[in-house]
Parts: sequence; C-alpha cells; structure tokens
Amino acid sequence: MRICKVCHDPAAIYLANYGGNLCRDHFLEVIRKKVRKTIQKYKMINPYERVAVALSGGKDSAVLLHILDTIYTETLDLIGIHINLGIAASDYSKTSYDLAKDLCQKLERDFNSVDLNNEYQISMDRVKNRETRLSRPLCAVCGTVKRYLLNRYSLNLNCEKLATGHVLDDEVSVLFMNLINGKTEQLIRTGPHLKSENSSMITRIKPLYEISELETSAYAEFAGLETQTKDCPYSRGATTLKYKNFLQNLETQIPGIKNTFLQNFHKRLLKPLKNYYQEPEGIIKPCKSCNGPTTGEICSFCTIKKVILQEE
Ligand code: SF4
Ligand code: ZN
Ligand code: ZN
Repeated sequence: MRICKVCHDPAAIYLANYGGNLCRDHFLEVIRKKVRKTIQKYKMINPYERVAVALSGGKDSAVLLHILDTIYTETLDLIGIHINLGIAASDYSKTSYDLAKDLCQKLERDFNSVDLNNEYQISMDRVKNRETRLSRPLCAVCGTVKRYLLNRYSLNLNCEKLATGHVLDDEVSVLFMNLINGKTEQLIRTGPHLKSENSSMITRIKPLYEISELETSAYAEFAGLETQTKDCPYSRGATTLKYKNFLQNLETQIPGIKNTFLQNFHKRLLKPLKNYYQEPEGIIKPCKSCNGPTTGEICSFCTIKKVILQEE
C-alpha cells in the first residue's frame, strides 16, 4: 500500500513535483503552501486588502477562492464576482451561476454577478448568432467581454486587486500561442502580477500561476468542491485548446517542460522583450462611449456591443 510521505497514512495521490505520495489532507496542505509561496514570491497581496475573485463556476476559480479563504481567513476581504454569459445550451450559464453563488454562500463571502444579457443585451448566444459580423473568434470576443466587465465591476466594488483562476497550463498555452504568432504586445502583458497602469484599470493577480490543472482537479475533489462538470458548448475547436492538448502531449514525454518554459520565459525573456517593445507611457485613455480604458477612441467592449446590437 502506498503511504503518505508526511504522516504515513494511506496515500491518496502521487505528486511528481513533490517527489512522493500524499494523503488527502497533506495534499491540500502542500498545494496551499505552494500557492502562498507564489503569492509571496510575486508580492501579489498585502494584508487586509479587498480582493475580487473572478468565479466562473468551474474548478480552477473555485479552488482559488477556497485556497485564499483558507490561507487568509481573517486577513483578506474576499468578494466573488461572476459574469453570467447567457449560454442556454445544457443550462451551462445557469449551472455556472448557481455553483459560483453556492460556493460564496458556503464560505460566507459576498457574491456579485453581472448578467450580460440583462445588463447589456449581448449574451454569448446572441454573439454566436451574429458571429460573422465580428472579425474575431467567439472565444476571443468572450475573453474581451469578461476582462472588461471584471475590471469595471471590481473597481466599482472598491477592490484593490482582481484575482483570477489562471493555472500553469493556461499561462503556458497562451504564452506559447503568442510566441508562435509573434504577438509581442500580448507577450509583454503576461505574468502573475499585472499592476494597474492607471485608475481605470485594476491590478490583476494569478495566485494559481504555478499550480497545474491536474493539481486543481485533485484539490477540488479532495476539498469536496462542487464545480461545473460540463465544458462550455462553444469550447469545441477553440484554438487555445489545441495548443493546450499539444503541450499536454509534450509534457507526458518531457515531464516538467511546462514549468521550465514558464520560469525561463519570466527569468530570461520577459525583461528584454519589455525593454524592446514597451509602449510609450500614457497611451491608455478613456473610451469616448463608456469611459473605460482603451488605446483607441472606443474600447473593444463598446465596439463589440455596437456591432452585435446593430439591426440587420
Ligand atoms: Fe467563453 Fe469560449 Fe470559454 Fe465558452 S469556451 S466561456 S465562449 S471563452
Ligand atoms: Zn498525510
Ligand atoms: Zn467603452
């Protein structure tokens, strides 16, 4: 029988990067310690801050809130924010909303949600139906919408930081995709701690930056977290998923390669890239329509809204 490396009880999981077997409780403890270390390493959080946690209803963001709530029970003011995307198929958005809300209730943390359809009349179902009007893939539009709303509402709620559940696998696949496509602008804007550039932008942090998807899955299971089990009906064929699968295949052949890539990018490549490609300061200005941050006249969110709401 496999036994836990720490307490010698029956083991529940083998953690390769920990170099041994762990029981349920010690696995949860090891993951929390790892997240705390990442938070300290990248100076993400100060005591008594008000931190918005983006909750999708899925496992990664649920794990994020659970870990922050456990580590900083008394010392952080945590608020859940959920964006209801208005995806009707398989009750996807309804289930996601219910799960995010239930988690906040269980942890006794405030819950806030933004209903894309009620507030802005641009549900993702509507965007899908009018997709040909936009020159970008649906998931890119969805990403822009989520980023805009999470920024806006966490600032409205007087939060100092916005924490998102991006895990190692997300970061590495986006980095790799941007490298392949030469997207230097996006490359220099990645990282675990993206400081606010002006008062219309919240500081974004990614405490699960060094945690893998396999680890969040096991954490969610061992901590008994109820999370969305269905994939988004629009996720099929998403380009990021193809990069993720490719990198996962590579990881099985060369264990640890994702982590090596992420660490090396930040240690060796990010700074020179930033020095070379950094935009001049002050380029961000208020959107003429909503006052939100933009580099043009009208922000991407307002442009999407206008195009989608236009009559035929
Ligand atoms: Fe949005 Fe695409 Fe994710 Fe679905 S899979 S939630 S459409 S980004
Ligand atoms: Zn143990
Ligand atoms: Zn705008």
